[in-house]
Parts: sequence; structure tokens; C-alpha cells
Amino acid sequence: MPHSPMPTRESLREVRYDIRGELSRRARELEGQGRQLIRLNIGNPGAFGFRAPAHLQQAVSAHVGESDPYTHQQGLPLAREAIAAFHRSRGTPNACAERVFVGNGVSELIDISLRALLNPGEEVLLPSPDYPLWSAATILNQGRPVYYRCAPENGFLPDPDEIEKLVTPRTRALVVINPNNPTGANYPPELLGRLVEIAARHGLLLMADEIYDGILYDDAVFTPLAPLAGDVPCLSFGGLSKVWRACGWRVGWAVLSGDPLKVGDYHHAMDLLSALRLCANVPAQFAVPAALTGPETIRELTAPGGRLHASRQAVVDSCAASEHLSVVAPAGALYAFPQVVGAAAEGFDDQAFALELLETEDVLVVPGTGFNVPGSRHFRVTLLPEADVVREVFARIDRALDRHAAR
Ligand code: PLP
Repeated sequence: MPHSPMPTRESLREVRYDIRGELSRRARELEGQGRQLIRLNIGNPGAFGFRAPAHLQQAVSAHVGESDPYTHQQGLPLAREAIAAFHRSRGTPNACAERVFVGNGVSELIDISLRALLNPGEEVLLPSPDYPLWSAATILNQGRPVYYRCAPENGFLPDPDEIEKLVTPRTRALVVINPNNPTGANYPPELLGRLVEIAARHGLLLMADEIYDGILYDDAVFTPLAPLAGDVPCLSFGGLSKVWRACGWRVGWAVLSGDPLKVGDYHHAMDLLSALRLCANVPAQFAVPAALTGPETIRELTAPGGRLHASRQAVVDSCAASEHLSVVAPAGALYAFPQVVGAAAEGFDDQAFALELLETEDVLVVPGTGFNVPGSRHFRVTLLPEADVVREVFARIDRALDRHAAR
């Protein structure tokens, strides 16, 4: 009998997740050979020494003994009450526990929410660059990503007129990632208002990935989308992974808002899909009320003098000092998305450059094309390491780009 490989799902060929892709595999190999790498590819606070705040840890350990049963598919009532109250205090219309879905991270809810929405061939408007799970989940749920550009010349903010031109009779949703991964852009209220108008005019579901809503620098102010959306159907995502540095606990949430007559069927679909996976990790859900009513410890890190603030400044200063790089200063989130410019940009291949950086300088970044930007001259770094490490990384990147410029 001939041995041919077992076929896998065809649509996987169109799916990429470079944040943990081929370069990560090579990085593990090099580490296996004893090389000391600086990994800037994943926004994983725990890997950089951050810990969830003590009051969250206590809330979980105090309730482990009550955590054995499955809970309601949409989440523990006390967690959902706390999320609903948090959203009411922000002005999300009709926020109540029944409209909250708790998942094993926002990741699971992105998949569930697109699966509940899409029929084959239906389109989802996504930012380019995007957080690539959004593209992957759209494709795997038989939808088609349609990208709206967020250009560095415009501070990585989208142009609403351009977005509206992309709408077709098959468009179902408009995804907004704010504050943005990978660019760090923070969307102003006027822009968000224009996006709501587009969704209202064309009957689209707004999907607001706001997992970085508490991570802002300098005078940036976060504007939640749902209060502006009013009656327009909107699903707002948040979670414990970033603002509360508890990625490994796998707790995220989605809050459905908008006209009850419009969102009723979608609510049932989300509830059914949530039931099929039984429930999210129960012990960690006990941390949600503590997180949403306790001190905002993230501010100690993002305010001047804080560790994230210092690292962000180190990225901005390093790029300013380099003849090969330009960067839009991140207003929020945990990343910067520098661009290679000048002589080093000629014939630049971001994938080849990232591999070279790993092989020759022991630095792991994610190439810009991994965020669905064709022909990208960008790469993404996380702001999580100490500022000194960031400076060292950029010295190495500059050295590699000097070599490129000289070729
Ligand atoms: N959305 C964005 C924009 C992200 O950057 C991430 C993780 O990096 C997620 C969602 C998924 O977060 P989690 O599944 O840990 O809640």
C-alpha cells in the first residue's frame, strides 16, 4: 500500500499565524543549541516577568474549591454581572449579564462570534495590518476577509470613505481593533462615529476588539465603540490577558449591544455555539469581579516612569536615532510596528530579514506580512521587555540594516 500523507482542511492553506509560525520553530531549534535569543514576537506579559495583580490571584485561589462544576455556557453569573456593570458604567446600551459571553480568552470568542455570523462567501471588513486571528477565523468559518488599509502616513488610522467603498451586498461585519495590535493606534471618537454610521447604513455587525482598552500612553484616551453604536448591533471584546497580565488564565468576554429586535437571533446563535463547548475555564472567572472593581494597576506601568512607558519611549527614540527606521509612536497596546526606510528598504523582504535577524543577531520579531500587509517593509516588536533590552535589540536591528543598506 502506498503511503500518501493524510489530507487536511484545504482552507488552512490560506491561514497564517506568523506570531507563532516557522520563525518560532527555528527559534526553538536555536535555543536547543544553546543560543540565547531575545524574543519579541508574542505579547505575553508573563514571559517578561509580569504577574497578574495579587488581588486577582487571591480571588482565584479563594474559589478553587467551588470551581469543579461546569458553569453556564455564557459564563459564571458573578463574572457576567461584573462585566455588564463595567460596560454600563462606560455607557454601553442595554448591557446586562444575559448579553455577556465569557470565553477561554478573546481568541475563542472571535471564532465563535464569526461562526455564529457567517455563511459561505460572506465578507468581513478587517484592518490591514490586522491581528491575524481575525483573518484566520474568518477564512476557517468560510467567510472572506476584505481589508481596509490603515496607513502609517495616516497614523495607522483607517479612512472611512475607503471602508465604505469596500462594502458589498455580501458584507456582514466591520472589525475594529482599538487600541490596535500591531500598530498601537488609538482611534478618536469622530472616526469611530463614522464607522458606526457605515455599519448602520449597511446593516453590518460592529466587532470591537478592545482587549487593550486600558493600555494607553501619554495623553491618549480610549473611546469604547458600543456607547457610540447605540442601537447598531455591536460585539465588544475584552479580557484578562493584557490589561491584567493573565494570558495563561484564558479569560475573555464579549458583550452584545444594539437593538434587541435585531440581535436576538444572533444572541441565540452565540449561546448555542457557547453551549457546544460547555463553558470557559471556571476558576479563573472568579478573578473577573476583582479585576473590574479593583485598582487599575496597569496605570503604574503605562504612566511616565512606568516600565511599559519606558520601553515604548526606548522604541521611539531608537527608531528616531536610526537612519533605517521610522515608527508611528504607539498610543496604546503592547506593540510597535516600525518601517524600514531609505537604502535598506530597497529590495527589502520582511520574511527574509526576520530570519536573518534571528540567525545573525539572536532577535525574534514578526514580519509585517504576517499581519496581512502585502509587500510590507514593517516588523512588529512587543513593548514588554525592559527598556535596556529594547535598546540592545534596536542596536542589533540597526546593525543588520546597515548590512542591507551596504548591499
Ligand atoms: N485580540 C487581539 C487584538 C490580541 O492581540 C490578542 C492576543 O494577543 C487577542 C485578541 C487574544 O487574546 P486572548 O485570547 O488571550 O484573550
